Amino acid sequence: MDAHLHLDNEALLRVSYGIEQDSQWRDCAICRAAVEAMLARRSESGSRMENALPEWFWQRQRQSVLSVVRTTPVRPLGFRWSAIGALAAVVLAGWMAMQPAPKSGVQIAKDDERLLNDVSMAVNRVEPQAMAPMDMLWTQ
Ligand SMILES: [Zn+2]
Repeated sequence: MDAHLHLDNEALLRVSYGIEQDSQWRDCAICRAAVEAMLARRSESGSRMENALPEWFWQRQRQSVLSVVRTTPVRPLGFRWSAIGALAAVVLAGWMAMQPAPKSGVQIAKDDERLLNDVSMAVNRVEPQAMAPMDMLWTQ
């Protein structure tokens, strides 16, 4: 048998986690015994520790986890929808700004045009409206 370095504590840990690259320890009775003893001790102490913890300990653990979960702020759903609505409004405004201006296809009849001109003359005349009755005196 080759002379090999027996597993030290670090290598024992690596073997127990299955990340030890060197597999020479399998050929060595001393190393195999050390690994088996460590694994047996670990599983035994692990189950012993879990059994030793009282129920109130686990209850407190659950309560602390639940309190953290309950106090974690949840972003309200409405915020997302308002952000989506604002984005849609911006996109719609941009799309409308890029559209060509509508052509004025409004046709005005001759009578309507005359009426509109009369209304415009009446509204936009220079003399004040309060003087209109005096103007009627001179014209009659
Ligand atoms: Zn060895």
